[in-house]
Amino acid sequence: MSETIYDVAVIGAGPAGVQAAVSASHQMRHALVLHAGKVSYSRGRAYWSKSVEIEDAPVFPGITGPNFAKELMKWMEARPVTPTTIHGEPRKTGIEVRDGLVTKLTKDGDIFNLEASTVRFRKGKSLEIENFKSRTVIVASGFDDRWPDIEFKEEAERLYQQYITVFRYAGNRKGWHVCIRCDGHLHVDEHLAIVGVGDYIYDVALGAQDFTDKITILTNGRPHGFSPKVLEQVRKRDIEIIETKIKKHLGEKTNLMGFEMEDGRELYFDGFLVDEGLIPNTKFLDGWDYQKDEEGLIITNGDMQMLDANGHPIPGLFAAGDLVSGERNLIATAFALGQEAGLSASDALRKWHHPVH
Ligand SMILES: Cc1cc2nc3c(=O)[nH]c(=O)nc-3n(C[C@H](O)[C@H](O)[C@H](O)COP(=O)(O)OP(=O)(O)OC[C@H]3O[C@@H](n4cnc5c(N)ncnc54)[C@H](O)[C@@H]3O)c2cc1C
Repeated sequence: MSETIYDVAVIGAGPAGVQAAVSASHQMRHALVLHAGKVSYSRGRAYWSKSVEIEDAPVFPGITGPNFAKELMKWMEARPVTPTTIHGEPRKTGIEVRDGLVTKLTKDGDIFNLEASTVRFRKGKSLEIENFKSRTVIVASGFDDRWPDIEFKEEAERLYQQYITVFRYAGNRKGWHVCIRCDGHLHVDEHLAIVGVGDYIYDVALGAQDFTDKITILTNGRPHGFSPKVLEQVRKRDIEIIETKIKKHLGEKTNLMGFEMEDGRELYFDGFLVDEGLIPNTKFLDGWDYQKDEEGLIITNGDMQMLDANGHPIPGLFAAGDLVSGERNLIATAFALGQEAGLSASDALRKWHHPVH
């Protein structure tokens, strides 16, 4: 049997990747979606919204992250791989979904090779690696949020293990939030703790003003790092700054209530928001020469095509969703960018092109 060469391989099954695959299959393409959800803790950002309903997303009413992930799967399952004939040639159309953490992306001639670990990693067991081939690739693997170093286990190798205490309180109504635009409405006129440093964290406070003016910035033991102008505004707005290190969380089950500080104080708040930056899920692109911004997010052209160092589109390689450089995006944008990438990848596979191109 000959090895399958997919038309479009999508890395990631968040809203961006799923929409990209659906749009490509709508154009009669044979799409493969590899997603890390079941083989790693990298489940996508929306998944961590565990008891807070995701709102503001097209089509879906308020829905929690794990249910949203299930709905996205069902949407893809409604487009199974089907044999068809186009221009007299036998072809396949539809979406194949596979569990797989993509570990390496390479290109040989016109064909991409995706190396993926397809079984959950267990200590003492060797990795199970499978290879997949495709004519085009859409990178929609999102990013992981950086968590605050509170009860942080430096010796643990994996993000989830390092921040296991933080994860206990993450994505809950009374726990850690990472997106003020998503969850600010839960804390109207309540006292919000914002963890982070520098002028950047002040932007988060600016977003929080839509919901409350009772704001405390906790730097977790670091100097606040505000520029003089920002510091002046922070003081004018009566935003408290606490530079003491946080010793541990004070919470019950998955409800976070406050912190025990290193100086022995106990501080209690109604809401908790952190922005310590992000970790792009792009390790598999190591060795590729592509444009990215200072946070490591991918720079694309208007067709969602990735660009090389000279600004030229990299043939067949696209990106979509949160991973694309720009303002922090939400789900509707991820869907929109996914659709653009799915259609552009399909267009790239056409045989006839306009004579001027
Ligand atoms: C707690 C929280 C609450 C939120 N609430 C809202 C809200 O109310 N409204 C709203 O509009 N937005 C909300 N957002 C933002 C929203 O979740 C993101 O904008 C959106 O999920 C981005 O979609 P994406 O497809 O780009 O990436 P993600 O949803 O992050 O999906 C990335 C996918 O890539 C996979 N992946 C990662 N690495 C690999 C790899 N190496 N190989 C294969 N697969 C990989 C993951 O398993 C996942 O399937 C929230 C975010 C968080 C964290």
